[in-house]
Amino acid sequence: MKIHEYQGKEILKKFGVTVPRGIPCFSVDEAVKAAEALGGKVWVVKAQIHAGGRGKGGGVKVAKSMDEVRAYAGQILGMQLVTHQTGPAGQKVRRLLVEEGADIKKEYYVAALTDRASQKVAMMASSEGGMDIEEVAHKTPEKIIKVFVDPATGLTDAQARQLADGIGVPAASQAQAIDTLKKLYTCYMETDASLAEINPMILEGNGGIRALDAKFNFDSNALYRHPEIVAYRDLDEEDADEIEASKFDLAYISLDGNIGCLVNGAGLAMATMDTIKLFGAEPANFLDVGGGATTEKVTEAFKIMLKNPKVKGILVNIFGGIMKCDTIAEGVVAAAKETHLSVPLVVRMKGTNEDLGKKILKESGLPIISADSMAEAATKIVAAVK
Ligand code: GDP
Ligand code: MN
Repeated sequence: MKIHEYQGKEILKKFGVTVPRGIPCFSVDEAVKAAEALGGKVWVVKAQIHAGGRGKGGGVKVAKSMDEVRAYAGQILGMQLVTHQTGPAGQKVRRLLVEEGADIKKEYYVAALTDRASQKVAMMASSEGGMDIEEVAHKTPEKIIKVFVDPATGLTDAQARQLADGIGVPAASQAQAIDTLKKLYTCYMETDASLAEINPMILEGNGGIRALDAKFNFDSNALYRHPEIVAYRDLDEEDADEIEASKFDLAYISLDGNIGCLVNGAGLAMATMDTIKLFGAEPANFLDVGGGATTEKVTEAFKIMLKNPKVKGILVNIFGGIMKCDTIAEGVVAAAKETHLSVPLVVRMKGTNEDLGKKILKESGLPIISADSMAEAATKIVAAVK
């Protein structure tokens, strides 16, 4: 689960990391009031969306007067902000963060993340803060320093110093940088984050260190123990079909192809997508109906797949274990009728009550194409959509 920058900064602040004073806003008037309340002479008006690269896309502006605050807030609120992380359609800006301006002497990158290869938490830092870390990693990988944290000791002083020193934090500011890194690690661990990134972490003119941006991803399997983080969820930023699917306990991810697939079990769902690709087409989604699919669940799954205008055919691939093929067959027939299915439908089912399931499909009178093996199913659906 992702959250907004201002929410991330609230969390960082709770863990003792220095962040600028700022106020989230939903309208231009609120933005002006926020700037007045903050005082000072320079403010930063920042688009709040669940994607990075806002600065380059025109979603972060430094205002030097109340008129500028008003003008920038008006420009950014409601804009369709396109960044390298939003895709070409962009993301509509519905919230702003108005902050006191910072005196930036140097921008660094620091992050805590789950490193799958070492199966540890990695702390990463770079002297090249502010810009795309992906670009730094690609062009000048030597400018990224990593340490791997032993869970028994946590991030040690020596490791934090190695990072702070390695990215060139001046001696006088190292103690605070080390402190910030250790707090970032603690925050990452205690919130069950999978990513906690500060880009940029800045060195101020007076030698202070503060977090100017905050990006978090949280492990959704651990959200049950963090109601305070769940409360940060902003459904406007999430895919509407994926939200709808989660209400029915369906694991759905929309993709770019034109063959919808409905499968039970994540492994079989991935194998099905691979098979579709192997036979020359592209899946329109990943959809795992899980172990206990009911007629209602299968119908909802069909509705969600069919909402996608790119879908030109559907492949149902079921392995009947605890789940019986006849239950799925009834669900498929009911769903096909209720949704007035007009695209080709190939069904492959194996396992418990397979014969009964096939009989139900056959006797439904619907033009359902049946298949026995995965290769046959993929061949048939790929041919049907071509
Ligand atoms: P991102 O582009 O989505 O990662 O948004 P950031 O919050 O990182 O902001 C992008 C850039 O805007 C930063 O790297 C800074 O260079 C700049 N920026 C952000 N806050 C301030 C500020 O208070 N003062 C100034 N001068 N620049 C800022
Ligand atoms: Mn940033």
